[in-house]
Amino acid sequence: MAVEREKIYEVEVKRRRVKEGGGYEPFWKVKNVATALSDSDTEFRCKDCGGQVKLLGRNSKAGAPPYVEHKLNADSEYCAGGMLFKKATDGREPKASEHPVE
Ligand SMILES: [Zn+2]
Repeated sequence: MAVEREKIYEVEVKRRRVKEGGGYEPFWKVKNVATALSDSDTEFRCKDCGGQVKLLGRNSKAGAPPYVEHKLNADSEYCAGGMLFKKATDGREPKASEHPVE
Protein backbone atom coordinates (compact mmCIF):
# COMPACT_ATOMS: atom_id res chain seq x y z
CA MET A 1 0.00 0.00 0.00
CA ALA A 2 1.37 3.39 -0.98
CA VAL A 3 1.93 5.84 1.80
CA GLU A 4 -0.45 8.73 1.47
CA ARG A 5 1.33 12.03 1.01
CA GLU A 6 0.19 15.47 1.83
CA LYS A 7 -0.19 17.61 -1.27
CA ILE A 8 -0.80 21.32 -1.00
CA TYR A 9 -0.90 23.29 -4.22
CA GLU A 10 -1.16 26.79 -2.83
CA VAL A 11 1.38 28.50 -0.59
CA GLU A 12 2.28 31.92 0.65
CA VAL A 13 5.41 33.45 -0.84
CA LYS A 14 7.42 36.31 0.62
CA ARG A 15 7.39 39.45 -1.47
CA ARG A 16 8.46 43.03 -0.93
CA ARG A 17 6.50 46.15 -1.50
CA VAL A 18 7.23 49.83 -1.27
CA LYS A 19 6.53 51.14 2.18
CA GLU A 20 4.71 54.34 2.86
CA GLY A 21 7.39 56.89 3.70
CA GLY A 22 10.10 55.03 1.79
CA GLY A 23 11.92 51.76 1.79
CA TYR A 24 10.48 48.29 1.41
CA GLU A 25 8.53 45.97 3.62
CA PRO A 26 7.98 42.24 3.27
CA PHE A 27 4.53 40.73 2.94
CA TRP A 28 3.11 37.28 2.24
CA LYS A 29 1.08 36.56 -0.84
CA VAL A 30 -0.96 33.45 -1.64
CA LYS A 31 0.16 31.77 -4.84
CA ASN A 32 -0.14 28.56 -6.74
CA VAL A 33 3.07 26.53 -6.22
CA ALA A 34 3.71 26.17 -9.96
CA THR A 35 3.28 29.92 -10.47
CA ALA A 36 5.61 30.68 -7.56
CA LEU A 37 8.30 28.51 -9.11
CA SER A 38 7.99 30.12 -12.52
CA ASP A 39 8.18 33.52 -10.79
CA SER A 40 11.43 32.37 -9.07
CA ASP A 41 10.03 32.82 -5.56
CA THR A 42 12.30 31.28 -2.96
CA GLU A 43 10.59 31.79 0.40
CA PHE A 44 7.49 29.73 1.05
CA ARG A 45 5.23 28.96 3.96
CA CYS A 46 1.90 27.28 4.55
CA LYS A 47 -0.94 29.67 3.77
CA ASP A 48 -3.13 28.26 6.55
CA CYS A 49 -0.79 27.88 9.53
CA GLY A 50 2.35 29.80 8.50
CA GLY A 51 4.47 26.70 9.08
CA GLN A 52 7.52 25.52 7.16
CA VAL A 53 6.88 23.55 4.01
CA LYS A 54 8.91 21.28 1.79
CA LEU A 55 8.77 21.71 -1.97
CA LEU A 56 8.13 18.49 -3.85
CA GLY A 57 7.30 17.20 -7.29
CA ARG A 58 9.05 19.89 -9.27
CA ASN A 59 10.88 17.27 -11.32
CA SER A 60 8.04 14.83 -11.64
CA LYS A 61 6.60 13.78 -14.96
CA ALA A 62 5.00 16.29 -17.26
CA GLY A 63 1.49 17.28 -16.31
CA ALA A 64 1.92 16.64 -12.60
CA PRO A 65 2.05 20.00 -10.81
CA PRO A 66 4.59 20.68 -8.04
CA TYR A 67 3.28 20.85 -4.48
CA VAL A 68 4.40 21.28 -0.90
CA GLU A 69 3.90 19.38 2.32
CA HIS A 70 4.41 20.47 5.94
CA LYS A 71 7.94 19.93 7.22
CA LEU A 72 6.64 19.29 10.70
CA ASN A 73 4.00 16.72 11.50
CA ALA A 74 2.93 18.92 14.38
CA ASP A 75 1.88 21.59 11.88
CA SER A 76 -0.03 19.16 9.70
CA GLU A 77 -1.86 17.88 12.77
CA TYR A 78 -3.32 21.30 13.58
CA CYS A 79 -3.35 23.13 10.24
CA ALA A 80 -6.72 23.70 8.57
CA GLY A 81 -5.13 22.54 5.31
CA GLY A 82 -3.12 19.69 6.83
CA MET A 83 -3.68 16.09 5.90
CA LEU A 84 -3.29 14.87 9.48
CA PHE A 85 -5.70 17.54 10.72
CA LYS A 86 -8.32 16.50 8.17
CA LYS A 87 -7.91 12.89 9.23
CA ALA A 88 -8.25 13.64 12.92
CA THR A 89 -11.57 12.53 14.35
CA ASP A 90 -11.39 14.18 17.75
CA GLY A 91 -13.04 17.45 16.75
CA ARG A 92 -9.87 19.47 17.27
CA GLU A 93 -9.63 23.12 16.28
CA PRO A 94 -7.01 24.30 13.78
CA LYS A 95 -4.28 26.59 15.07
CA ALA A 96 -1.28 28.47 13.74
CA SER A 97 2.13 26.82 13.63
CA GLU A 98 4.24 27.02 16.77
CA HIS A 99 7.28 27.48 14.55
CA PRO A 100 6.02 29.81 11.84
CA VAL A 101 8.14 31.20 9.05
CA GLU A 102 8.48 34.92 9.71
ZN1 LIG B 1 -0.21 24.52 7.45
